[in-house]
Amino acid sequence: MKKILLPIFLLLAGFGFTQNEVTLDYYLPQNISYDASIPKPADVIGHEVGEWHITHDKLLFYMQTLAKASDRITIETRGETFEGRPLALLTITTPKNHQNLDQIRKDHVALTENGGTGLNTSEMPIVVYQGFSIHGNEPSGSNAALAYAYYLAAAQGPEIETMLDNMVVLLDPSFNPDGLQRFAYWANTNRSINLNPDPNDREYAEVWPGGRTNHYWFDMNRDWLPVQLPESRARIKTFHKWLPNILTDHHEMGTNSTFFFQPGEPTRVHPLTPKINQELTAEIGTYHAKALDKIGSLYYSEENYDDYYYGKGSTFPDVNGSIGILFEQGSSRGHIQESENGILTFPFTVRNQFTTALSTIEAANNMRTKILDYQKKFYNDIALEGAKSKTKAYLFGDHKDAAKTWHLAEILDRHQIKFHELKSDATVNGKSYKKGKAYMVPLNQKNPRLIRAMFEKRTSFTDSLFYDVSAWTFPLAFNVDYAELPTLSNAGSEITNLEPIQGNVTGKSNYAYLFEWHEYYTPKALNSILEKGLRAKTAKSPFRLEGKQYDYGTIMIPVQNQKLDATGLYDFLLKVAKESKIQITAVATGLTKGIDLGSNDFDPIKKQNVAILVGDGIRSYDAGEIWHLFDTRYDIKITKIDTKNLSRIDLSRYTDLIVPSGWGSNILNDSKTKKVKEWVKQGGTVIGFRNAANWFHKNEFLKLELKKDTLVAKNIAFDQRGDFRGAQVTGGAIFEANIDRSHPVNFGYKNDKIALFRNTNIYLKPDKQSYNNPIQYTDNPLLSGYISEENTALIKNSVPFKTTRYGNGRVILFTDNTNFRAFWYGTNKLLMNAIFFGDMM
Ligand SMILES: [Zn+2]
Repeated sequence: MKKILLPIFLLLAGFGFTQNEVTLDYYLPQNISYDASIPKPADVIGHEVGEWHITHDKLLFYMQTLAKASDRITIETRGETFEGRPLALLTITTPKNHQNLDQIRKDHVALTENGGTGLNTSEMPIVVYQGFSIHGNEPSGSNAALAYAYYLAAAQGPEIETMLDNMVVLLDPSFNPDGLQRFAYWANTNRSINLNPDPNDREYAEVWPGGRTNHYWFDMNRDWLPVQLPESRARIKTFHKWLPNILTDHHEMGTNSTFFFQPGEPTRVHPLTPKINQELTAEIGTYHAKALDKIGSLYYSEENYDDYYYGKGSTFPDVNGSIGILFEQGSSRGHIQESENGILTFPFTVRNQFTTALSTIEAANNMRTKILDYQKKFYNDIALEGAKSKTKAYLFGDHKDAAKTWHLAEILDRHQIKFHELKSDATVNGKSYKKGKAYMVPLNQKNPRLIRAMFEKRTSFTDSLFYDVSAWTFPLAFNVDYAELPTLSNAGSEITNLEPIQGNVTGKSNYAYLFEWHEYYTPKALNSILEKGLRAKTAKSPFRLEGKQYDYGTIMIPVQNQKLDATGLYDFLLKVAKESKIQITAVATGLTKGIDLGSNDFDPIKKQNVAILVGDGIRSYDAGEIWHLFDTRYDIKITKIDTKNLSRIDLSRYTDLIVPSGWGSNILNDSKTKKVKEWVKQGGTVIGFRNAANWFHKNEFLKLELKKDTLVAKNIAFDQRGDFRGAQVTGGAIFEANIDRSHPVNFGYKNDKIALFRNTNIYLKPDKQSYNNPIQYTDNPLLSGYISEENTALIKNSVPFKTTRYGNGRVILFTDNTNFRAFWYGTNKLLMNAIFFGDMM
């Protein structure tokens, strides 16, 4: 059959390609027969694979149809995306295995527990989890899933039957349904009958924000460890339910690239990943190489991509005894595009993904026992690590913030990590931990490596380049207190059911209600109160009342002169307390130790109307993180103003305008910048993040003194210049700052130090007046992650926050990302403080 295949290949990959020439045979192995009763993709979706970009609804429909027609396939829905699209999973194996599937799964998981004794790996199926297009605008994966699922359902003969008998395939046709749908719409809408490979065509330049991300513009291939998004939650549940041996993640890269498969850069593997993992990845790679050689497709491995951050789909499995594999296909983006390698057709990209999906299961089949033995050995090898370790447990908690503590525990729960409550309240290293607001995570359990990957701090590295962040230490990201414990003596009972937190009001008052600002969801509560038209004030100083100490930022709601009468107010606040999971205290008097409740040191808080700039010029990730924070956590309405519409929008409706990081000094053109300045002069608050600093600086919103790097290359060869420059990138690390808790930007923080995430090299000199530096990096600020020596010198004692009055308004700048990837709960309050207390700064 090769003779027939070759001319078709040349025609499609080379010259004169039109859509009429693509057939299903182009993708499929031709030396076997296919079950005629299985519907082909075109029979169901109305076009050939690769002729149009598959939309998620059609993809789902085909998979459902296939599951009905084939006794090899079952389909399940594991949840839904933000836009309500089902998160489907196909389980594919022989009908015989299907009848015994639960036992197969139980045995498979048992292999990783108690030494896997009594199980014979030579008789056990291998489990392969294959997932596609987590970046929605890298569509060849999901499109290949059509042909691949058809192949698994319809292929006949002993080869496929033996393979499926030896294997359970978990097929996730679209890791990112919302993004895929958005991208398919774009590519199909702009497709011409006469396919046009000119890269200047609109087809190849998606409009902002593009289809890469999910609904709230998150890169979901960074969320495998933090599991903050619904799509990741479904995937992680499947992962832990099955503990697959191999997990594949099919992506796309630049149009001029060929095809990449892991292993990646050998020096950039996380030290918690065993060496054998990479050796097995390389052996699996020989199957991809052979398959791609056979169809004449160029490829590479052991370059560019790394295996460091466990939040990525191809790296997360590596700390779980599995083997994660990244595939990257040069993207045709639309239907056909010119490239350095000639005309790149969409079907060609789909075929490479199909081919490596197939070579993956060929490798899995041939290496089955070896890979199963590796998984068993992985868990055997680490079984005693926890017991032998000097640290017996991690303790974390925040006695002022139950919700934040709870959300960190929730991550552990989703990863099936065991944790305990405290037997009794405790003080460790000067920090107090209260039962119910702290948890203990013993290392002596199934996967101590996964726990380490979440809790440990790392500051030394074998390489100075990182594909993604170099640190993600969860207790720092949550800004909770934490400690390494040498004993488990204070461990209470295991938490087997993480109960939701209950909010409450202590009673009905005829005078006032109080709540401290520390709890994570207090901004949600305050916003509800202000939206209702109620008056609330915040304390600029601590005070003591009725035996209780109240900190800076405490919210006071007086009973008199409100829209609601005393009973109505109590009922409403009870609802607010429950929805926001906070405790509200009713008090009977205004006479305190410290500022009395009627003092001028209580400042009134106005209802805020917040807008955020989105669209061209703005980084969609940074904007999406903020949108998600307001919308899903705090239930605060936020208006997304597109930069292109700014000229015709009346800004006077808004109290605050957030400017996320973007094109630096060119975020807005001169006339739009002038408009924002005028609005600030009239009393608006503009809040900029990261490189919005450059826009503020250039347009004189704010006087900034930037600390600049003067590093010059010496003895660096031409071919080393990339690494030299790369080493100066601060790709994402965690730093410590001192905070002045009396400054409103820091209200709600109980400690004098804070951990901040930073991925820029913008370093600001502190103000001469110390009170203008409420957040300042310490002398030795690196807590976790990589930063170059040169930048370490710059960051010391610099400031990540500046604010100034401008006319009647205010300018606020954060050089760090306080909203990073939805899991940096610890600094979310800084932005909320800027919103609600900006007037007081
Ligand atoms: Zn990708």
